[in-house]
Amino acid sequence: MKKYRTAIILFIVFETIALWLWQATGNLFFLLNFSYIGTSIGVGLALIAAGWKYGRELVQFMVGSYMLVFLGLICHENMQIEGFWLYLAAGIWGGATLHYLIAKIFGPLLFGRGWCGYACWTAMILDLLPYKNSSGRRKLGFIRYIMFLLSIATVGLLIWLKKTDANTLYILFLVGNIFYYVVGITLAILFRDNRAFCKYICPITVLLKPMSFFSLLRIRCDESKCTKCGKCLKECPMDVEVCNNSRNRKNATECITCLRCTKVCPKKALKY
Ligand code: SF4
Ligand code: SF4
Ligand code: SF4
Repeated sequence: MKKYRTAIILFIVFETIALWLWQATGNLFFLLNFSYIGTSIGVGLALIAAGWKYGRELVQFMVGSYMLVFLGLICHENMQIEGFWLYLAAGIWGGATLHYLIAKIFGPLLFGRGWCGYACWTAMILDLLPYKNSSGRRKLGFIRYIMFLLSIATVGLLIWLKKTDANTLYILFLVGNIFYYVVGITLAILFRDNRAFCKYICPITVLLKPMSFFSLLRIRCDESKCTKCGKCLKECPMDVEVCNNSRNRKNATECITCLRCTKVCPKKALKY
């Protein structure tokens, strides 16, 4: 049972959120929404723990496509960062605001950047491209801060122009997603690296990185077992110096908890 511990913990956490929000608001949507997400994550992590190769991809598609297609395209909830700023400015505590608070701001204190490894609908497509291994790091990480400021500026402009109606939010969601996919796929091909967009462009990492630094669940390295063979470093799509157990290891806040490193370690020194 020990190997299913993380799957059970995360399922319970999401189910608790589902029940609590349902009771607090009387809105059945919260029960169904968070139960679905918790079940997807719990089942996926259990499958991974049982040794199934595509457990992570399965969760990513179950959660990512649900959010993009059902919440975004069908229910017209703007789940992009601009939607979060706009709902926040309007004081609307709906799907997008709660989503950001749980998955991207406070959740990372528990599960790090699990969002990036198991749920993001942008990475869900990028991960299908053939460049699964990292091609190293370029000094382009500053772009994410520009993108972050641009997202705030866009929202400021829309508020100033009084263009915050549902239709504008929906168009913003469509345009934002198309932009992310085009830039993400282009960069992946250019740099031969599926996760180039995550490394340099994605504005959400400005929230995710500092919070995930303190994550309770993280890849730990038993350095007494490690022979510094370097296999984990070669396997890591995010260039994390995972054979160092310190929270200050190189690219520590880039870990997307994909668990690839744990599978290649010949000494079983890496644990989640
Ligand atoms: S860094 Fe951004 S695009 Fe990449 S997985 Fe995380 S949220 Fe998605
Ligand atoms: S793969 Fe294992 S043994 Fe090799 S460097 Fe990484 S943690 Fe150490
Ligand atoms: S390979 Fe390991 S260190 Fe790298 S992102 Fe995946 S879980 Fe994190």
